[in-house]
Formats: sequence, structure tokens, C-alpha cells
Amino acid sequence: MASFSLRSFTGLRQTSPDSQAVTLFKPQIGRSTGRRSLQVKASKSSPKVTGRNLRVAVIGGGPAGGAAAETLAKGGVETILIERKMDNCKPCGGAIPLCMVGEFDIPLDIIDRRVTRMKMISPSNVAVDIGRTLKPHEYIGMVRREVLDAFLRDRAAAAGAEVINGLFLKMELPKAPNAPYVLQYTSYDSKSGAVGERRTLEVDAVIGADGANSRVAKAIDAGDYEYAIAFQERIKIPDDKMAYYEDMAEMYVGDDVSPDFYGWVFPKCDHVAVGTGTVTHKADIKKYQLATRNRAKDKILGGKIIRVEAHPIPEHPRPKRLADRVALVGDAAGYVTKCSGEGIYFAAKSGRMCAEAIVEGSENGKRMIDESDLRKYLEKWDKTYWPTYKVLDVLQKVFYRSNPAREAFVEMCASEYVQRMTFDSYLYKRVVPGNPLEDLKLAVNTIGSLVRANALRKEMEKLSA
Ligand SMILES: Cc1cc2nc3c(=O)[nH]c(=O)nc-3n(C[C@H](O)[C@H](O)[C@H](O)COP(=O)(O)OP(=O)(O)OC[C@H]3O[C@@H](n4cnc5c(N)ncnc54)[C@H](O)[C@@H]3O)c2cc1C
Repeated sequence: MASFSLRSFTGLRQTSPDSQAVTLFKPQIGRSTGRRSLQVKASKSSPKVTGRNLRVAVIGGGPAGGAAAETLAKGGVETILIERKMDNCKPCGGAIPLCMVGEFDIPLDIIDRRVTRMKMISPSNVAVDIGRTLKPHEYIGMVRREVLDAFLRDRAAAAGAEVINGLFLKMELPKAPNAPYVLQYTSYDSKSGAVGERRTLEVDAVIGADGANSRVAKAIDAGDYEYAIAFQERIKIPDDKMAYYEDMAEMYVGDDVSPDFYGWVFPKCDHVAVGTGTVTHKADIKKYQLATRNRAKDKILGGKIIRVEAHPIPEHPRPKRLADRVALVGDAAGYVTKCSGEGIYFAAKSGRMCAEAIVEGSENGKRMIDESDLRKYLEKWDKTYWPTYKVLDVLQKVFYRSNPAREAFVEMCASEYVQRMTFDSYLYKRVVPGNPLEDLKLAVNTIGSLVRANALRKEMEKLSA
């Protein structure tokens, strides 16, 4: 895929809801360009660290960990990233919003596909084309996670982070103020394949970016969250079939594909990813997967399954997301949106935001931090994204509850206004001010669709009684 300068996307960064207050320089590595210079305000009374800089361990090298480690290292913090599997193929649809490409300087040649067309397909197989309102430069990026994660980790290493191939086991919490956390991990040598060696590491703070089954979360007693199980098959399909998915993604809704989520066909470099998820009926996930594959069967005919994968997706944030000098980010914290199941951007963003709070609180690694510094990250996160999570939560509750409601949802997606609002919110992660007249029309139409849906549901219940 041709690569071209990201310069034309620089405008996207201005739409970021962040205002940053730490000194960070964009790295002169990889294909990254530009420079970001921000000032730390010196007003801390916490002790200075002497003879070294603040040491922070980032556990997990997915998007959350990679982004956190890069920001810490660039901000003057001694950074150690521990990742158990350097070639980890995280089970994931790999769809990323356009703003992530700009905000995280993602090189275009690691994006497998640029999706500009999308079909939303109802329970009765009514297909609505969405994406008609996209501007010529706009698209949804499709990445393979093994490629994206490795890129972010390598960039963190180039910025100065020490990247350790190891399995984090547990940690001892400090017994006195400002005392270190003592981490235990098994170190692997991925080149020699030698049996891991158990090691310890002392650090001043820890970022838990170790995903949905986070051991860091357990170590701080962060509590559990409800989760969906998501299942995905990577299917290699014949070239003529692949041509259809060149820039096209499909989303299927219906009781058959999931009682509370959607099924998808997302295009990758040389295959499609077909998957589905559910919170409420986890034991039936394979049945839903089969139904998703069936719905797309004509378009993936002759395909060969090359990989089968499954993983939990958090449904909401954990009861506790920080304790003392430990904070959780990404899936470890529980930052996946309902309705869309999107978590890559939020993982990278929360990793970066948490790291920025540490860089700022430590005055570029010169002082000890405390819980109040990490709390700034949480406050900023909740203020910026709470409305997004809430809106998508409500949408899921209203539209994914029955087949008639899903039919209404797909009908609503045909509206250009809805498409524009949806894509603007998704691609740029900004709250899009609506047009009051269009909002009113939409409300009336939606209520109309839902009333029809409700009437239809009642009729169907009568029929099946
Ligand atoms: C099937 C499926 C499809 C999805 N599709 C999409 C999509 O299309 N778009 C989207 O935005 N989101 C999608 N998501 C959600 C997305 O995958 C996650 O939100 C995202 O990966 C979170 O990133 P993270 O860095 O927080 O955690 P992860 O990506 O889970 O990374 C955690 C890392 O920590 C490492 N690790 C874990 N434990 C340890 C340990 N003890 N020691 C050392 N390392 C450890 C792991 O190896 C891993 O590399 C999907 C999820 C699933 C399951």
C-alpha cells in the first residue's frame, strides 16, 4: 500500500480534546514527524529523586502499554516495559479511527485497508450503505494487531524505554511512603527460546496495561468488571471475493449473530476477519459465530479459516482504577465502548494520558509522584470520555435488545444526518454539535421506527406464544 506524508493530517490533532501540560518531544525515529513542546509547571512539594530519575514499570505492550511507555520515556522517566509475547496476535477486529492515525503518527503502510464503505445489515438482511458522507481523505483504518503493537513498542524503545520480554507475575506493595514496588517476573529470551528466569525489579510506580485479565488489577484489588466474550476467525478468501472487501466492512445485527452485540466482517491485508461477541450468552458464542459466517456465506465462499481466536472484552470500567502509585489503563481499566466494542484508540489514549500525568507530576522524572498525580489522569479521562461511553451504552440498550429494534436501528442508519454524526464522532472522537432541526426530525423518525418495532415485536410474541 502506498505511503504518503502524514502532514496533510496534522489538522486532526487540533480536534483532540486534550490540552497537555508536560514537556514532550516527538521522537526523531521511525516515520514520525513534528515536535510537541509543552511546559511543566513546577509547584510540587514531593521529594526529589536523587542519583537517578523516576522509575516506572509498564506491564503489557499492547496499544495502551506502548503509548504509555513512549510518553514516559520521552518525558524523562526511566521506563521499563514488560511484555510476555513480542509477536502477540491480540484477537481483535483491528479497526481504528482516523484521528488515531494523526494523533499517534501511525505510518500509513502499517494500515492494511482503508475502509470507506460499510454495510449495516439488519436481521432480515436489509443492507444499508453507510459511509456516503465520508470526505475523500476520510476512512476507518484496519490493522493487524501484531503489526500495530510491535510498531508502538519499537517506537517506545527508540524513545528510550527498556523493553523486557517477560511475564509479570506479582508485586509487593511498598510498606512505607515513597518506598519502591518490588515486581516479580519471568524473563524470556525470545531468540534462544531458553526457559524463563525469575527476576525482580524495583520501581517507583506501575502502569497496568496488561489487558482484560490484568494481574496488576488483581495486585491492587481493583475489582472485576462484566465482560463480553468475542470470537473471531481469520478467513482467507479467493481474490475475486477479496476484491469486494477491498475497502468494505460489514456489520450484521440480529438474534442469530448475537443477542446483545453485532457480527462483523472486516478486511485485512490478505484475508477477512469474521467475528461476533456477547455478554449475556457466552456459552453460545460458537453458535453465533456460525450464524455470522452463514450470513456472509456468499461473499466468503471458498474461504479457508487460517486462525481462530477469542478474548474477553470489558463492558465497563473496574470499580477501582488506581491505588497509591499504580494506575490501570486500556482494557485493564475497562475502557471499551459499548455498542461498537471499540478499545484500541481508548487504550492508546489512556496510556498516553496516564503517562503524561506521571511526567507532569514528577517534573520530567525528577520528583516522586503520589496518588494525587495519577488521579489527575482519571479526572481528565472521565471528563473527556464519560459522555461518549454513556451515549453508546444507551444506544446499545435501546437498539440491540430485539430484532424489531435492530431493524429500526438499521433503518435509522440510512439517514445521511445519522451517518455524518456517527462518523464524525467515531473518526475524530469529538462531540459533534447537532443541527436542532435535524435532531428533531431524527427524534421523530427514531420514535416512529421504535414504535413500529415495538408493535412488530408484540405481534411476533403473539405468534410465538
Ligand atoms: C475479537 C475482538 C475484536 C475486537 N475488535 C476491535 C476493533 O475492531 N477495534 C477496536 O478499537 N477494538 C477492538 N477490540 C478491543 C481491543 O482489542 C482492546 O480494547 C485493546 O486491545 C486494548 O488494548 P490494551 O493495550 O489495553 O490491551 P491488550 O491489547 O490486551 O494488550 C495487553 C498486553 O499485555 C500483555 N500481557 C498481559 N498479561 C501480561 C503479563 N502478566 N506480563 C506481561 N505482559 C502481559 C499481553 O500479551 C498484551 O500484549 C476487539 C476485541 C476483541 C476481543
